[in-house]
Amino acid sequence: MTDQQHRTDAARAALEAVPLPAGGTLGASGRVSGFSFAQGRVIASITIAPEEAQAFAAVREAAQAALLATPGVAAALVALTSERSSAPAAPPPHPAPAAPAGKKPPVLPDVTHVVAVASGKGGVGKSTTTVNLALGLRALGLKVGILDADIYGPSLPTLLGLRGQPKVGADRKLAPMQAYGLKVMSIGLLVDEETAMIWRGPMVMSAITQMLAEVEWGRLDFLLVDMPPGTGDAQLAIAQGARLSGAVIVSTPQDLSLIDARRGVAMFRKVDVPILGIVENMSHFICTDCGARHAIFGEGGAEAEAKRIGAPFLGAVPLTMELRRASDLGQPVTALDPDGVTGRIFVEIAGRLRERLS
Ligand code: ADP
Repeated sequence: MTDQQHRTDAARAALEAVPLPAGGTLGASGRVSGFSFAQGRVIASITIAPEEAQAFAAVREAAQAALLATPGVAAALVALTSERSSAPAAPPPHPAPAAPAGKKPPVLPDVTHVVAVASGKGGVGKSTTTVNLALGLRALGLKVGILDADIYGPSLPTLLGLRGQPKVGADRKLAPMQAYGLKVMSIGLLVDEETAMIWRGPMVMSAITQMLAEVEWGRLDFLLVDMPPGTGDAQLAIAQGARLSGAVIVSTPQDLSLIDARRGVAMFRKVDVPILGIVENMSHFICTDCGARHAIFGEGGAEAEAKRIGAPFLGAVPLTMELRRASDLGQPVTALDPDGVTGRIFVEIAGRLRERLS
């Protein structure tokens, strides 16, 4: 057996030995629904019924402490998750501004606005938009963080040219990484993509919950959450786990993705998260040779759709070589040149978003 296997077994045994309030252990109860141990970090989930949340808060803490006491464990993130069917979720609890005595403190108390950036399907430029929108907010003088919750294809490390691993702070919380003045955390910085891909629902929700609650975000004006594409469990977990100020939907002008965008809008409405606006990405192509503007996917689809569903239109981002090249190089356009043509578009979108929330 390798050293790593020994350590993994020891950590799992420590977790399973944690006693439960009603007697017995976590292991015997079969509630450990997810476990991963890599590079000194354990991520685990404990399945509970929603009404058990308060009773299990102490179990969660004991589980983290037990893991941290295991040799080789530098950071431990344990979350309580309740398996959900695909049936519509219950409306999210609205967290009170101040925690009532004896209740759990609110998530992210020092973050003014948590904003989800979502799309109905992949490949519409959601991550590119998230990064440049965050940099646009930063150019307006705001403190901004990004959580890459796109567990099935984390791309923030690439887009921002991040290398290395997040450090564990003095209080054992993970410190976010820094890029272009932004605080950044991505599931891609903690586990490799293949590991994340095989996670089932509870682990996905667990990882997202932890990245919101167990990362030392500090004081931020905005935390943008780059959501997984689609409208499934992971989206609901974020909508319910964080107190979202609202959601920004990214869409291309094509009809199909507009249908997907509509689905995204409906999902957020169902859980009472306001739609802050729609960003149309790849709205038109600016020819590098002649500078002419070509509306390849048709003109104004997202703007018309925004009007139809009563959501504000935040702006249109052209399809440019510059944006794509910058993304591949990990040098986002809005960081390098916030006053350039494309940079200015994102700063304007950021300004409209800020206005919506002021
Ligand atoms: P998603 O997060 O929706 O899956 P990405 O942001 O990863 O999409 O973008 C998908 C691909 O499209 C990337 O290669 C990215 O560089 C490129 N891309 C996104 N938006 C633009 C744009 N406006 N102009 C040019 N390329 C873009």
